[in-house]
Amino acid sequence: MRKKIAAGNWKMNLSAEEAQTLASEVVNMFQDEYTGDAEVIFSPSYPYLSLVHHLVKDNPKVHLAAQNIHQEEKGAYTGEVSAQMLTSIGCSHVLIGHSERRQYFAEDNQLLAKKIDIALKHGLKPVYCIGETLDQREAGETLNVNTTQLSEGAFHLDAEAFGDLVIAYEPVWAIGTGKTASPEQAQEVHKAIRDAIAAKYGAEVADNTTILYGGSVKPANAETLFSQPDIDGGLVGGASLKSRDFTDIIKAL
Ligand code: PEP
Repeated sequence: MRKKIAAGNWKMNLSAEEAQTLASEVVNMFQDEYTGDAEVIFSPSYPYLSLVHHLVKDNPKVHLAAQNIHQEEKGAYTGEVSAQMLTSIGCSHVLIGHSERRQYFAEDNQLLAKKIDIALKHGLKPVYCIGETLDQREAGETLNVNTTQLSEGAFHLDAEAFGDLVIAYEPVWAIGTGKTASPEQAQEVHKAIRDAIAAKYGAEVADNTTILYGGSVKPANAETLFSQPDIDGGLVGGASLKSRDFTDIIKAL
């Protein structure tokens, strides 16, 4: 059965003290106020992973994700972080292919496929991000762009390995802009993603794949987005930096 997940991508924000306060506030509110079966992922920047791990390790429904990973095992890659380093400090997940990495660091589907492989090899679950730009949407290329990013980045996996992936559909034009895809726009793409997975791996794998929506999710729009049949939760940027907002988004699941 697929999981419902609220993932918070903190990007390059917060001090160490703020990161610890945010994580402990959300964990406390989650424990006190939420009785459902959704899971939570925090994705702080590298220096805070250990600090946050310490705060979440006793809650089996709260997980830790890095925001990026290097594609090689180890070696002379100054400034980079390996899969093994991440698992050794308690990470269970890693974001791969966030649009900011695609846009600012020129990460393409071929590179991202390698990052997915090294993550899986070390037992890290990739949250593989895909999404179209505004120009691509306006040119009518939305479904094609998303299924191409999906297939080039992840369809080299066998069905068992693919089962460890979480997919995040994040229209680039909706990330950090305050513009959200309408529930119908998001559902259309989520369904196309699930159909592509079904065509490749069969209906059971597709049905079991968690597909998150990301792009200006807030407490005010979370419930209508999450009520769509193929939207299994959210990858949340800005609103995940406020404990009350992020907890309310979790509760919308
Ligand atoms: C993101 O960073 O993945 C994201 C969706 O950001 P925001 O919620 O701020 O649009």
